[in-house]
Amino acid sequence: NKYIANENRYEKMQYRRCGKSGIKLPLLSLGLWHNFGDKDDFENARDILRTAFDNGITHFDLANNYGPPYGSAEKNFGEIFAQDFKPYRDELLISTKAGWDMWPGPYGNFGSRKYLIASLDQSLQRMGLDYVDIFYHHRPDPETPLEETMAALDQIVRQGKALYVGISQYSAKDTTRASEILRAQKTPFLIHQPRYNMMDRWVEDGLLNTLEHEGIGSIVFSPLEQGILTDKYLNGIPKDSRAATQGSYLDESQITADVVEKVQQLNEIAQSRNQSLAQMAVAWLLKDERVTSVLVGVSKVSQLEDNIKTLENLDFSKNELEKIEGILKN
Ligand code: NDP
Repeated sequence: NKYIANENRYEKMQYRRCGKSGIKLPLLSLGLWHNFGDKDDFENARDILRTAFDNGITHFDLANNYGPPYGSAEKNFGEIFAQDFKPYRDELLISTKAGWDMWPGPYGNFGSRKYLIASLDQSLQRMGLDYVDIFYHHRPDPETPLEETMAALDQIVRQGKALYVGISQYSAKDTTRASEILRAQKTPFLIHQPRYNMMDRWVEDGLLNTLEHEGIGSIVFSPLEQGILTDKYLNGIPKDSRAATQGSYLDESQITADVVEKVQQLNEIAQSRNQSLAQMAVAWLLKDERVTSVLVGVSKVSQLEDNIKTLENLDFSKNELEKIEGILKN
């Protein structure tokens, strides 16, 4: 069936300016790391993308190696894009990345000019796009000179293959260096993509300050700690969950009694706020204006709908925040 986007799609979503740029991002963005590969249900993937866009989620985040197999999330996204989203290209921000292992040999990983440029060319082909809105270096490379990696990002922009560039998982110190190089080159450095959630708070120790200082936005990944910060694991490990899935990056062994106890306590606070724990976990990240967007993954449309309802209650009382800190400190 032909897709026609909901005409009310911009009514409820809120948008936040990305650093000091001209771009605004939706408070929630959708990531395609899981659930869009060849092993996944294509129609479910399509429904998730349609639901996202119908609710004002204008940003879809990909990477060269999302799948499995590698490349298949981009390929499947490309098919859905061609069928459903082509008329809406200018309403969408589409990102991809390179930096992790993608193809065999020394040129399919890390941060060389050779790898980044070839990888983006492949990504564009798989997705059927002329350009992406954001191209990221996916992780720091300890060996390649930062100047080489940043020059490759610059060239990609000059060639019209990306409008903006970003970096992911770079430390505060490397972010400052990258920013200096990119500023000198006049490369549009839009955004940093770090991991951030209630249980992983490294960005509070310098990175967010650095980003604010440099005028760069942030989009935070694994905001629900891959599903741990939801009510999903409170009564065991559901068969269709990420923790029960072989080859995912969440293992049953991470769902310890301690973790469940903490999540239970957080869930009680969420209930007292009349929201789900997933919603509270997202709202908790958005209370910091330096977080431009929260990048969620979902395996079902119902999860996305749940997460979107976060917008109905974004405020925290001082008392709630203190209670949450108390639980997280234990
Ligand atoms: P999340 O922490 O949002 O975890 C997503 C998982 O949580 C879902 O697959 C689902 O698990 C569960 N979930 C989501 N919403 C709900 C809900 N309302 N109720 C119950 N369970 C829910 O994020 P991800 O780890 O998936 O990361 C998000 C995105 O961030 C990725 O798609 C990718 O774009 C990006 N990313 C970037 C990285 C980088 O290095 N730059 C690394 C990792 C991710 P289940 O499958 O069990 O149903």
